[in-house]
Amino acid sequence: MRAAVLTQQGAPLEQQELPDPEPAPGQIALTVRACGVCRTDLHLRDSEIDAPRLPLVLGHQIVGISDDGRRLGVPWLGWTCGECRFCRSNRENLCIRSRFTGRDIDGGYAQRTVADERYCFALPEGLSDEQAAPLLCGGLIGYRALTLAGDGKRLGLYGFGSAAHMICQLAVHQGREVYAFVRPGDERTTAFARSLGATWAGPSTEAAPEPLEAAIIFAADGSLVPQALRALDRGGVVVCAGIHMSEIPAFSYDDLWQERSIRSVANLTRGDAEAFLALAPQVPLRTTVTTYPLERAEDALSDLRAGRFEGSAVVVP
Ligand SMILES: [Zn+2]
Ligand SMILES: [Zn+2]
Repeated sequence: MRAAVLTQQGAPLEQQELPDPEPAPGQIALTVRACGVCRTDLHLRDSEIDAPRLPLVLGHQIVGISDDGRRLGVPWLGWTCGECRFCRSNRENLCIRSRFTGRDIDGGYAQRTVADERYCFALPEGLSDEQAAPLLCGGLIGYRALTLAGDGKRLGLYGFGSAAHMICQLAVHQGREVYAFVRPGDERTTAFARSLGATWAGPSTEAAPEPLEAAIIFAADGSLVPQALRALDRGGVVVCAGIHMSEIPAFSYDDLWQERSIRSVANLTRGDAEAFLALAPQVPLRTTVTTYPLERAEDALSDLRAGRFEGSAVVVP
């Protein structure tokens, strides 16, 4: 099979011809139809988070067809132990032995892959392979972040990429007001957020027009944490949804006072996947995707780094 392989962190992906992966007991083999591009892939490529082993096939938003003809989605969480204190308390997202797709297990920037059958999900029928792929990380982890943000009406989204463009639609469907904060000067993304139902969209340096009940930070910029905190109403929460963030600047305790809180979201559970994938067709959720052939996987990462597209990028082998 052909695959785009990370052989060295900080260097471009290499196109390679590899043997087809063989499924171990409990795994199934899939022919990859589409694989979403996530900022985590870029963090691994750019050495912002550690790759536990190399060479590595990135990609953890896989839409594939099993050898018996089922269309399945494979997310970031690829394996859990089922025995640790987190697995036994409904928090498998925090499993101490967890293994992740496209990090510990070769992922979907390839023509074939294997996945633990317990972590393969049926996908909504109304979405093409390319449109469904971004649901598997941006959608799922965005949904977990939205759940942990509580049910407040006025929701801020900081960073309006793949995850936010889906969570905006879901939040509007739930009757919330979405306030979208984008990079200063980014008029194209401001208009994109408004087109998806945001009540307000503007630069992240601007104050929110109304105090927010919750804010989700999808961007990897730590300076957004105190900014989002200052946009919150009393009792509000800032949810940091990314796997990596630059350093958070110091801020006054006054900004946290009145029961405001900051928390992170890590990974997903199978329960999140089942709930979100059932909800998506009810919205109905539509993704804006830019597709890249497998040979251009490196270009997809470059375009994500530079913010050259709206919504999600998807690699099609
Ligand atoms: Zn991801
Ligand atoms: Zn565990």
